[in-house]
Amino acid sequence: MQARPASQAFRAEILRHLTYSMGKDAGHASLYDWRMALSLALRDHIVGPWFDATRQTYEQGRKRVYYLSMEFLIGRVLEDAAINLGMRAIAREAIEGLGQDWHQVVEDEPDAALGNGGLGRLAACYMESMATLGCAGYGYGIRYEHGLFRQWFDGGRQVETPEDWLKQRHPWEFERPEVCYEIGFKGTVEIVNGKSVWAPAETVIAEAYDMPVIGWQGRWANTLRLWAAKPTTLFDLARFNHGDFAAAAEPEALARTLSRVLYPDDTTFQGKELRLKQEYFLTSAALQDILRRHLTAGLALTDLPDHVAIQMNDTHPAIAGPELIRLLSDVHGMSFEEALEIGVKCLGYTNHTLLPEALERWATYLMGSVLPRHMQIIEAIDAWHLRMNPTRPHYVGIVKHHEVRMGELAFITSHKVNGVSALHTELVKKNLFPELDKLHPGRIINQTNGVTPRRWLRMANPALSRLITGAIGQGWEADLDRLRELDKLSEDKVFRDDFAKAKRANKVALAEWIAQTQGVVVNPDALFDVQVKRIHEYKRQLLNILQTIAEWHVIRSNPTAEVVPRVKIFGGKAAPGYQAAKEVIRLINDVARVVNNDPYVGDRLKIVYPPNYNVSMAERLIPAADLSEQISTAGKEASGTGNMKFALNGALTIGTLDGANVEIRDEVGAENFFLFGLTAEEVTERRKDPEHARHAILKSQPLQDVLQMIAEGRFCPEEPSRYHGLVHNMWHSDYFLVASDFEAYRDAQTEVDQTFAEPDRWWRMAILNTARMGFFSSDRAIRGYMTDIWGTESAL
Ligand SMILES: *Cc1c(COP(=O)(O)O)cnc(C)c1O
Repeated sequence: MQARPASQAFRAEILRHLTYSMGKDAGHASLYDWRMALSLALRDHIVGPWFDATRQTYEQGRKRVYYLSMEFLIGRVLEDAAINLGMRAIAREAIEGLGQDWHQVVEDEPDAALGNGGLGRLAACYMESMATLGCAGYGYGIRYEHGLFRQWFDGGRQVETPEDWLKQRHPWEFERPEVCYEIGFKGTVEIVNGKSVWAPAETVIAEAYDMPVIGWQGRWANTLRLWAAKPTTLFDLARFNHGDFAAAAEPEALARTLSRVLYPDDTTFQGKELRLKQEYFLTSAALQDILRRHLTAGLALTDLPDHVAIQMNDTHPAIAGPELIRLLSDVHGMSFEEALEIGVKCLGYTNHTLLPEALERWATYLMGSVLPRHMQIIEAIDAWHLRMNPTRPHYVGIVKHHEVRMGELAFITSHKVNGVSALHTELVKKNLFPELDKLHPGRIINQTNGVTPRRWLRMANPALSRLITGAIGQGWEADLDRLRELDKLSEDKVFRDDFAKAKRANKVALAEWIAQTQGVVVNPDALFDVQVKRIHEYKRQLLNILQTIAEWHVIRSNPTAEVVPRVKIFGGKAAPGYQAAKEVIRLINDVARVVNNDPYVGDRLKIVYPPNYNVSMAERLIPAADLSEQISTAGKEASGTGNMKFALNGALTIGTLDGANVEIRDEVGAENFFLFGLTAEEVTERRKDPEHARHAILKSQPLQDVLQMIAEGRFCPEEPSRYHGLVHNMWHSDYFLVASDFEAYRDAQTEVDQTFAEPDRWWRMAILNTARMGFFSSDRAIRGYMTDIWGTESAL
């Protein structure tokens, strides 16, 4: 095939980078060298739009949005960048013309796993949508040397090893040694001439690394600025000269620990000093950068809210309120009240969870020791708020019981507080901040989460994307509501067959990957039933595996029974210290070993749990899923975004009325969603019966059988008592109501089977899911933030 001129030109650009950036010739280049050369050549094409966007923003004096997040779960960049630049075909042709396999090169890139799960992935989707919509802004985060740990299984148990994405050069970043700020910790506060002066005892330098984020069709690019910690003094020369070389390097080592590693706790809070320092490190660097940019433009600090909107992704950067007040008053001479008012106008806070164990509360002694000046400011904010709201109940406030409550702090220092789904926002009002909501009516608003269709449909699912473009033409990637045009095609037999074929192709590819990597042979015509997400009790992977055991029991008891063959796919990591979650992981793996080796079962049931779930694995699994498991205890999942990715890719959902499931069901139609389980209100009600678990178990013979099998050690004959604790907890506690929802879940799974056995019906429903997911584009979400919170307009 004759290469197109564009790809020939691009091939030359790749070779130039191979030679002059990598210092290799084509004969000796490794896969890594080729990937770097290709990435750098693509990056060159981002720089133009990136400069243009920055210049325009300066020239037009545009308001900028600053998205502060401790996590950005980016994944791989290469193919996503190529697609947004409209250069995927050219890039592929060019690299293949050079004798390299496109997929191999793409998959050589390590995931940038600077996040735990949904919260971090949301930040990444929002960065991409801001760039697509021409919403001028920056993401601010930490350049962790080690992202989320790698997971593997040893005898079914989770084992963690460090992640080292920066072992190789990261081609998408630009180091900015000149953009650096000093960050202080500890020390003392003195009053000098009536002003508070903080003399930190420790300081580190925050140095910027910039990653351009290119939007769809390359029309706009923003910056993700990640901070790395560097020492203020490289080493102690006096000690070095005395021959104490190790001690001389101590300050350097100490400073670098600040950006060394991402905390692996998802929705649990640990009051560790290093974590507080990381949060302040990010926030202070970001705010100093924002004020520097504002002042360099010759603008007055009193005008800050006209030029700056700062969004706090959860309370992790909630020290932003006090820090902004400190900078405006202590450093720039404003009065406390004026600084506070300006701060509130700039700041917005997104709440991500109601789980009590997730709410950040720092001991006042720790806050007072690590950030003594901020502790004073926090007390002053709290006192000011009480003065302004004399009816505030005594139990409401920021500092209570020797703790600083970061949720209250973020609420009081923000002009808007948003929940992440309609149900979640109602619960934030009703259960989390009822008094503050009354004192500040209208401050709490909803912005239902979204996902970027560029990565999660166009890139991850080329087969379905081609089918969609063939049916409704181009442009749906940036206008996802256009998928509605597929609605009527659900009645078209030919389209239904094509839709099913696209899904089957994805399933065949996944089956090959499972065979190669997991050594398990699965039938691509089986129902692919997928639950991938962090392992957490509230997400109820336990409910899923118990139902799987019940299904196995049915097959064993009726050897000739005609069942719909299923492949149960699990994926996800548990926080290293979360024992209950780790026990569930081990149980899934134990059950998988027994079921997969049971000759009775054959193709009818297989269980696979590939280790190390991450963004790249999500991109592989989701397009191949028939069924999406979204089965959290109602009232616990703030929104979910995995649920959106699946439905967009034509998987049907089995789910509870929780988080955004509620809105997904409203959009796709109740008849196209497998609903089961207690509602949030019923959950609260059911918990009042202290014996709810026992009562539910006694009503379900299948559940009794399942628990009996586990207790007998059927899945771990080498250690029969392994799950006695788990079974005991099921009978006597079961806080997440697995038993209470078990029968309803089984019934819903039976309905799934019956529907899958009627392909016409199934594919009609699947198409309608894809067709009606337009609302869940992160473009819609970002538009909402722009008008309701940030007060900014598109530059495009
Ligand atoms: C989307 C995503 C999540 C969030 O999944 P939920 O089901 O909403 O919890 C977590 N991890 C990865 C890698 C994802 O891509």
